Amino acid sequence: MNTTDATDTLDSSATKDTSVSPRKPCVAFLSAVLDMHYLVPAFKAACPGIDLRLGSDLGKLDEIDAALCWYPPAGVMSQMPNLRLVQSVGAGVDHILAVPDLPASASLCRIVDPDMARGMVAYVTWAVIHRHRHMDDYIESARSHSWVEQPVVAPRKHRVGIAGLGTLGMACARTLLGIGYSVCGWSRSAKSDLPEGLAAYAGNDTLGEFLGQCDTLICLLPLTDETRGFLNEKLFAQLPKGAHLINVGRGDHLVEADLLTALASGQVGAATLDALTQEPLPAEHPFWADPRILITPHIATRTSPDVIAAQMLNNLTVLDAGGRPRWQTDPATGY
Ligand code: NAP
Repeated sequence: MNTTDATDTLDSSATKDTSVSPRKPCVAFLSAVLDMHYLVPAFKAACPGIDLRLGSDLGKLDEIDAALCWYPPAGVMSQMPNLRLVQSVGAGVDHILAVPDLPASASLCRIVDPDMARGMVAYVTWAVIHRHRHMDDYIESARSHSWVEQPVVAPRKHRVGIAGLGTLGMACARTLLGIGYSVCGWSRSAKSDLPEGLAAYAGNDTLGEFLGQCDTLICLLPLTDETRGFLNEKLFAQLPKGAHLINVGRGDHLVEADLLTALASGQVGAATLDALTQEPLPAEHPFWADPRILITPHIATRTSPDVIAAQMLNNLTVLDAGGRPRWQTDPATGY
């Protein structure tokens, strides 16, 4: 991969500084759901001699400087008195804030990675086009060797709304605008320097107006106390009838029963879901059997181990120098 590109938000001297410091950082990998061994080679390459702790025996907990987390087990971080950094392996920190033992003194950081953004843009663009251009129907008619045309609607006549105009939402907006879709976005705070053609809405007062323009609605919000259950019956009622929902945020943004009701009434026409409340989605879950729902197994995008290692080690270097890591999040807002 192109390392310069993937880490272009970093101070390039960061990992070098770490490798010459007299004491190598001690990093614990914490996850209740993921085997994190795949990340070890990248950390060892970025910082030879680094003290990595994985598995059930984490050694002396007062030696641990930083924790790398994906759904960490509860009750572990609170026993690490010298923890300075809690690093998410992904863009969201909801899975860390879900456990109550985040030390107040530790900096909570997320990954922001151009390759992650590009992966998300590719997934979202595919999902929009797949439904807008009736690809499911073509796959079906090809099975019976049938030459059947579906309506061809110009992209500018298809309105795409993005809830969450952050790093990923804005990247998706730019590409969809480039194709020619009519794009609007919604965020908590008003934005300046918007890409040309992007209609932006901010705050709860504008939500209804925004939703009314979403032939396709993309959820790219972080999961917070305010956004949990955002995709619900009341919201669906404000969409144009037959809208397509794409959820690439988190499963808990969606009230699952409300989606089934909205699909049954035709208020929502189709859903593409990459994030589910229960992952893996159980085989007997009704979403699998509904032809209007397309499930993908939380693969919209990923970050490579070398980017995670570089950003985390850079964050430690910045903290050691008394600075604030660029992608530090605010536990009070949840993102
Ligand atoms: P981000 O840069 O923090 O952007 C979040 C956006 O959501 C911001 O525009 C923010 O508004 C807006 N927002 C937050 N709370 C809001 C509220 N209550 N009302 C309205 N807008 C609100 O996050 P990101 O890097 O783009 O990532 C977004 C999410 O994508 C992540 O948190 C994660 O859940 C999800 N994700 C999924 C995958 C996957 O593979 N499926 C991969 C990566 C990320 P302001 O701009 O006003 O702050």
